[in-house]
Amino acid sequence: MTTGATLALTLPSIRQYHGTTMVVKYGGNAMTDPALQKAFAQDMVLLQLVGIRPVVVHGGGPQIESALKRLGKEGKFIQGMRVTDAETMGVVQWVLAGEVQQDLVGLIHQADGKAVGLTGRDGGLIRAKKLRLKDQADPTLEHDVGQVGDIEAVDVSVIRHLQQAGFIPVVSPIGFGEHNESYNINADVVAASLAVALQAEKLLMLTNIAGVLDQSKQLLTQLTPAQIDALCADGTISGGMIPKIAGALDAAKSGVKAVHILDGRVPHGLLQEVLLGQPCGTMIRA
Ligand code: ADP
Ligand code: MG
Repeated sequence: MTTGATLALTLPSIRQYHGTTMVVKYGGNAMTDPALQKAFAQDMVLLQLVGIRPVVVHGGGPQIESALKRLGKEGKFIQGMRVTDAETMGVVQWVLAGEVQQDLVGLIHQADGKAVGLTGRDGGLIRAKKLRLKDQADPTLEHDVGQVGDIEAVDVSVIRHLQQAGFIPVVSPIGFGEHNESYNINADVVAASLAVALQAEKLLMLTNIAGVLDQSKQLLTQLTPAQIDALCADGTISGGMIPKIAGALDAAKSGVKAVHILDGRVPHGLLQEVLLGQPCGTMIRA
């Protein structure tokens, strides 16, 4: 097929998605490889130019990890959640809001787009409380993961204002509590909540792997809630994939029409998925 013919194939998607909001979780390799970072920023600008309204939520696992290492601290995870003591929370805030978010805002500007970075504190976007993390195997047990937040409420008015003014919002996954304390919230969980609150057409989560893999490491291109339950129960889904799949399922069940966990190693894989409908990972439908 000629390149022109491929471009013409994007017409139905552009028509269908024009004016809709898509929430994109920027994570995995897309967030750590300079060429992929640049490609991602271009993709966001392109989506906006064809009339789709992207809202980006970024992660920061690798960047937080290296900042902690520089301070002689070691990251610890329980069921995919980073154990966040007060000192770690400080690091999380400056790495996410000061580094990762602002780097992405800059890259979008370099791609001739307009982006505004904010955390969940800005505009009262994400109100949170301390997460009570139940043990996966024994729900009567609880883990103390420190200042990890559980989202209580989201107020998306600030996002709507930015969208109306033509900005791409870039959100750091930090929430505020009733005593003005900060919470570190898993970025996948934030992306899912925002997708629901914004009634997004799609939730797109970029990761560092081909998608959700089965026990024999084969890519699962489509997943239903029942299959997800089974994969979690038998331990096939573990670590960082736990909050991701939980968020994906939540969003799918709450009216987000399609949720995709995408291979963030493929340059412009997101455009391929959204504009050409060519799968680039795992799709979750309620
Ligand atoms: P990110 O949030 O940046 O996408 P995470 O490390 O938090 O990255 O989550 C992705 C990781 O989840 C994968 O790299 C993989 O190690 C892990 N994982 C656990 N179970 C699975 C599974 N069944 N399929 C794919 N990845 C899985
Ligand atoms: Mg993660």
